[in-house]
Amino acid sequence: AGLDEADEAVRGTCEDASVCKRFAVSVGYWKDPYIQYFVRQAKERKAPEINRGYYARVQGVSYLLEAFLKKTECNCQIVNLGAGMDTLFWRLKDENLLPRKYFEVDFPMIVARKIHNIKSKPPLSKPIIETHSGDSLLIDSHSLDSSRYSIVGADLRFSSDLEEKLKKHKLDVHLPTVLVAECVLVYMTPQQSANLLKWAANTFPVAMFINYEQKERLLLNGWENAHAIDMMKVYSFLPQADVKRIEELEFLDEKELFEQLMQHYCICWASKDSSNLGLADITF
Ligand code: SAM
Repeated sequence: AGLDEADEAVRGTCEDASVCKRFAVSVGYWKDPYIQYFVRQAKERKAPEINRGYYARVQGVSYLLEAFLKKTECNCQIVNLGAGMDTLFWRLKDENLLPRKYFEVDFPMIVARKIHNIKSKPPLSKPIIETHSGDSLLIDSHSLDSSRYSIVGADLRFSSDLEEKLKKHKLDVHLPTVLVAECVLVYMTPQQSANLLKWAANTFPVAMFINYEQKERLLLNGWENAHAIDMMKVYSFLPQADVKRIEELEFLDEKELFEQLMQHYCICWASKDSSNLGLADITF
């Protein structure tokens, strides 16, 4: 029972992340027309520090992802680990930046909720249907598989089950692949996250791993060209005209508090590049 409760608390973090993102979007930090379909509006305002922190997190991860998509000319896959209610698939489609296939993984219970939302909201289901071709689209309560978008319910702590399920959805380990873990590894033991990173490093010959996390939990197993920079640095590397725009959205009293908060988190990324696509050059 203790373990189930712990997993339930972890699943709850999905709600927290998307409520915070939706709130920041509603204030104007960045544009996401899809998040409203996945999560309610927050009852109370979130502190400006939190909003800015999410801004840096979302922009920072997007920046690295888009660099990977450009290097591979979208001839690649994205595997979003612990994706929660992430709306990246729909945003990439709008920007004409869809990879060959976009995969998401989360606990079956979270996946069921996501699929329910997709099924009942045409702005979410339409882009999936539009980009689908060939055989009929597979959709049941716990998994969805279309030509360009797939959701898999699995526990990231069991990589052989994960691999089997992804392969059923036609994951191609020989395509350049970017794996994203945005605030996910922190919910596993260091041993479990190390296993996941090792599995990914051993499975994909050409790949990049993007991880947003607390600095102390940095673990890279079997990866090359690893970088880690704290979120204050990420913030300073983001396009400064946009940073200036968001800094005018809300008054932030405690600059120092914000900086301390941002320094506790980091983005780290690493790659493996036997095809010499230039993945090692990706940086801010
Ligand atoms: N990546 C999303 C984002 O940044 O908006 C969600 C982040 S949320 C803090 C963590 C997510 O990881 C949750 O959706 C949770 O269910 C998922 N997760 C954590 N541990 C997992 C595991 N062992 N297997 C599958 N999903 C897991």
